[in-house]
Amino acid sequence: MRMNKFPLNKEQLKELVKKYPTPFYLYDEKGIVENIRYFKKAFSIFPKFREFFAVKACPNPYIMRILEKEGCGADCSSLPELILAQKSGMTGHMVMFTSNDTPAEEFILAAKQGNIINFDDITHVEFVRNALGGTLPDTVCFRYNPGSEKHGGNSIIGKPEEAKYGLTKEQMIEGYKLCKKYGVKHFGLHTMVASNELNPDFFTDTARIVFDMVLLVQKEVGVNIEFVDLGGGVGIPYKPEQKKVDLEYVAKEIRKLYDQMIVPAGLDPMGISFECGRPITGPYGWLVTTAIHEKHIYRDYIGCDACMADLMRPGMYGAWHGITVSGKENAPADHVYDVTGSLCENCDKFAVQRSLPKIDKGDLLIIHDAGAHGRSMGFNYNGKLRAGELLLRSDGSVMQIRRKETVEDYFATLDFAGLDSFKA
Ligand SMILES: *Cc1c(COP(=O)(O)O)cnc(C)c1O
Repeated sequence: MRMNKFPLNKEQLKELVKKYPTPFYLYDEKGIVENIRYFKKAFSIFPKFREFFAVKACPNPYIMRILEKEGCGADCSSLPELILAQKSGMTGHMVMFTSNDTPAEEFILAAKQGNIINFDDITHVEFVRNALGGTLPDTVCFRYNPGSEKHGGNSIIGKPEEAKYGLTKEQMIEGYKLCKKYGVKHFGLHTMVASNELNPDFFTDTARIVFDMVLLVQKEVGVNIEFVDLGGGVGIPYKPEQKKVDLEYVAKEIRKLYDQMIVPAGLDPMGISFECGRPITGPYGWLVTTAIHEKHIYRDYIGCDACMADLMRPGMYGAWHGITVSGKENAPADHVYDVTGSLCENCDKFAVQRSLPKIDKGDLLIIHDAGAHGRSMGFNYNGKLRAGELLLRSDGSVMQIRRKETVEDYFATLDFAGLDSFKA
């Protein structure tokens, strides 16, 4: 198995659980730092590379502060995410606001914080202009939806021509013309057409489409695009037989296109950025849960103290996450289980018919690759309280970076006192 190794052994984990009862998320600072350095090094062959960490993947300000120190910006899509970025030290143009169907107050905050607004539609130019009292920021960006020009797509994000995001080719041209007319000085171009993609050539193909658009804008509008954002969507190998995306290869292939297309157009140095979440924190976060029940009916079930409310991906898209049993890493996987949570939904299974070592009640199960789109996709359906988050520091110590939810949190939006005078 090539799964990313959980950084604590059985004894260390048992000690930790005494202080922080399961379920919890554990993130590995050292792993995240080494990983982001690898990512940035691969793309250092570009004159101006930037990674905007997709906040939705792991919206914890401690994790974001680590990434900020490594030179990352943030990709935000809501008002709370804009605030999180600001609090984490990611400010001004280190923040991309790539939202859709956006309320005016969110655009206003992004503008106030000096963040880069990425328009998701042609009509948003006037919408934002009205919201900002008749002005536009000096720098804007447009999200391109290449439609059927981009083949592929996948089940998470779908085919571009069926996706709700971005502007068509014709609208892109109109959008830049309009902003130029309104006096905007600096322009970016963005696209995001994949999710959890493992084929490295997919990203070169995307870059080609984006660079084509950059050249078209130059020709049709007379505007020089200063930065392109190639989106997120870089996948991670959840399954042992899958292969990590070779980012050095991706960077070199995109650099070839850059030299062929961007440099001759006089656009060098042009900023290149990604807004990845999954490949940055995904492999360095684990959901730790205790096997609290074992049941044998038509199948054999292991019931955990975590549930789909803590990690939705398996239940929602049948996503596969590796599971190891602490202390039984090398034991033969000679039992077949469905590993379940407590939600009253039959899809609440972390694994279905999975070969695992014999699991005993009290065993600690480690669910791998949960560091992105894990805790953040959690919910409270069925009165479930979401797990907290711990950070394994580079010096080996562990700190709590988010406590577990309490019943009080769950009831915080209700006014029980009002019930006393309420007559049904
Ligand atoms: C979700 C999202 C990302 C991050 O995707 P990952 O798969 O986590 O890298 C980046 N940009 C946009 C616009 C997104 O919606």
